[in-house]
Amino acid sequence: MVDRVTTLPYFYGNITREEAEQYLMQGGTTDGLYLLRQSRSYLGGYALSVSYGRQFYHYTIERELSDMFAISGGRSHRTPIDLIDYHSQETDGLVCLLKKPQSRPRGMEPKVGLFEDLKEQLIREYVKQMWNLQGNALEQAIISQRPQLEKLIATTAHEKMPWFHGSISREDSEMLLHRGNRVNGRYLIRQRDNRGSYALCLLHNGQVMHYRIDKDKAGKLSIPDGKKFDTLWQLVEHYSYKPDGLLRVLSEPCARANGEAGCPPIPQKHPLKGATGGILSRIKSYSFPKPGSKKTVKLPGSMTTDNLNTYVQKTAVTDAMPMDTEVYESPYADPDELRTSTISRSQLTLEDGELGSGNFGTVMRGTYKMQKSEKTVAVKILKNDENNLSVREEMLQEASVMQQLDNPYIVRMIGICEAENLMLVMELASLGPLNKFLPKNRHLSVKNITELVHQVSMGMKYLEEHNFVHRDLAARNVLLVTQHYAKISDFGLSKALADENNYYKAKTHGKWPVKWYAPECMNYFKFSCKSDVWSFGVLMWETYSYGQKPYKGMKGNEVLQMIESGERMAAPANCPPEVYELMKTCWTYKPDERPGFNVVEPRLRNYYYEISQI
Ligand code: AMP
Repeated sequence: MVDRVTTLPYFYGNITREEAEQYLMQGGTTDGLYLLRQSRSYLGGYALSVSYGRQFYHYTIERELSDMFAISGGRSHRTPIDLIDYHSQETDGLVCLLKKPQSRPRGMEPKVGLFEDLKEQLIREYVKQMWNLQGNALEQAIISQRPQLEKLIATTAHEKMPWFHGSISREDSEMLLHRGNRVNGRYLIRQRDNRGSYALCLLHNGQVMHYRIDKDKAGKLSIPDGKKFDTLWQLVEHYSYKPDGLLRVLSEPCARANGEAGCPPIPQKHPLKGATGGILSRIKSYSFPKPGSKKTVKLPGSMTTDNLNTYVQKTAVTDAMPMDTEVYESPYADPDELRTSTISRSQLTLEDGELGSGNFGTVMRGTYKMQKSEKTVAVKILKNDENNLSVREEMLQEASVMQQLDNPYIVRMIGICEAENLMLVMELASLGPLNKFLPKNRHLSVKNITELVHQVSMGMKYLEEHNFVHRDLAARNVLLVTQHYAKISDFGLSKALADENNYYKAKTHGKWPVKWYAPECMNYFKFSCKSDVWSFGVLMWETYSYGQKPYKGMKGNEVLQMIESGERMAAPANCPPEVYELMKTCWTYKPDERPGFNVVEPRLRNYYYEISQI
């Protein structure tokens, strides 16, 4: 059947969407003009390109498990030819009837993809080696097992590709990419674990960018929020012709030395188990002062924007997808964009539309212009209120804390701008606060929610390791960059702990988020990383209940009484028991007996891995 397709005059093989459009244009872009091509992301699938109303429409034809063919959500057909025949009679969801095939230009053969070239040779090698067959028996085996063999070979073919380096370290990948010809777009892929996680390492202006590639439950591979592929080589093929969110296209594979095979996969079951210390220590701080260091912490009284000016931060633009978070590069890490953290007003444009507000003023979307590029940012604008010096101090305190932090799960501060108002410029988390996102997105899976909560725990573990207390951890202060990427924000109440103390003692009771506070905060005004763990338990409750308010209908003192009596909130509906157990552990009464984030984070990580098992 497949052979019949490849001989069709209107089958173009492995051409891109843009090439298909060119051929349809050559055919006059008449309504219902169509061609068939090979899918570049679905294994064994096709794509149907149709012109209508002088526009182009592309439909993926998936090959189903039953070996039938269907446009997603549509009727199944025995072959792509049957599907085309059907749609020449019935639109059934298509933009128009298929009227006229656009045949290949004279003399043009269907384009053979990277893999097609290698496929036959790989299948033969496999059958020869694994089944120990030769001659006619080998040919027979290939004929009878071709679909299975093709699939098997396709999903392992990357191991034979020169750009696949197996489980080398991030450092080694950087060394290899910097060695030899340092052209922009030079790339390789390394394996991060043996459960389908890889990193695409790409040379861009002398720097190596690491993009995470993950496998979803259906076995599809993608860079977070990017197009999904059945195989790594399809992903490489795609990004070789289109940046599609990367900083640039892949140009030159960085080949393994002497064509040696990729390194064997990493053997351990849970690749990251017990490894976050290493991960965190690899997160770059650039030229930030060391977090938690007493020398660099400016307390509110002495705080001015000039103090902030003493720090130098590297900045850059990536409007690309989230990088490999395990080997994260700061989104503002561009050596060409060195600047101080004071931003001149002329570099900043505020846009219409408020992102949010608080007692300090408003948060607006803005554009921050750098030397070579610009970046959409969030700008916290202090309202001009001469009488409200404490709010100004709070904002400067927030800036002081934020600029010492450098972690992928914490909103980064870009700088401070003192103009008509005092403005705090931050990276933008465009999906906004978690507590507002969840009620509108109740379809989010437990796995997705756990992923986000785990990310928050990683950010909190970082704060714990660097002796900061957040003091306002709640779902409202977790912002989403994407549905799969959370960042902790709002450091207005945060404190750097003095080296000799593991807690901060507030002098007076303030405007406190009582329902998120541990008993020792309320009773003794004592705040530590352990009291942040208590708040994290409440945040977990909010998240697994899809944004409900904790202790609904209760007053602060009633909550306190309930806690003192040993009672805790009930599990949210459908909350997994493992998760509720962890929540209750976070609500251990005595801070000394309560676990730290060094315990909470690995527990969530392991649970996340368990439910992610394919
Ligand atoms: P905050 O006082 O920091 O909690 O900010 C108030 C509101 O402004 C938040 O609830 C968000 O809706 C919005 N906001 C603050 N920072 C950001 C940011 N970095 N990106 C997007 N929205 C933000």
